[in-house]
Amino acid sequence: MEDNTKKVKIAVNGGINFGSKLSAKQLLVLAKYLGDEEIELTTFQQLYLEIPADQKQDIIAEFEEAGLQCYPVGNFVKSLRTCNFCKGAEAEGMPVAIELNNRIAGIPVPFTLKPAYTGCPIGCGEPMVNDIGVMKVKDTYNLYVGGKTKGQDAVAGKLIRENLTPEQLYIVVDKIIQLYSEQGKKREPFHKFVNRIGYETLNEHLY
Ligand code: SF4
Repeated sequence: MEDNTKKVKIAVNGGINFGSKLSAKQLLVLAKYLGDEEIELTTFQQLYLEIPADQKQDIIAEFEEAGLQCYPVGNFVKSLRTCNFCKGAEAEGMPVAIELNNRIAGIPVPFTLKPAYTGCPIGCGEPMVNDIGVMKVKDTYNLYVGGKTKGQDAVAGKLIRENLTPEQLYIVVDKIIQLYSEQGKKREPFHKFVNRIGYETLNEHLY
């Protein structure tokens, strides 16, 4: 018999930790709601799955109880893509990455925005080729914007701030996203937006 249950797509991952990992408990709770559906592994350390719309809040609560984090799918700031923090949580700024993710993931924007974080200049989190990239260098943070990972015109982002403290980093990233939310055209990708307004104008808005 045809299943007419209304479904909603959500994004799920295991949160920011030492690598993008899932436990057996987390896999089991995901499997419980898969039925005959498939789960989609995205390039951005998220899994997409569809769940019944009328049970959304209860299912998300159950996922969160198992340590999963849930995010909306569509034109929102994605959860922070990170490196594996191989040199240790404190040394590589995991608390800063978690706080940044808590502040920005899920904010509505004109087009899906991908932020990335890496704990040292080796750059395993690929901050240079994402919309907003954070690189920890010694005890401070460098910020890149406007990277483009797809297409034949893929480019590295531009370094716009160096030696930021965590608080300075949060404030600058908040301002960039706010500006994009307010002045970005509908479905205008972030790198196009940055090129349209120009780095000079962007910088003026950040002061
Ligand atoms: S970016 Fe640095 S800290 Fe992060 S996984 Fe790579 S080498 Fe390790």
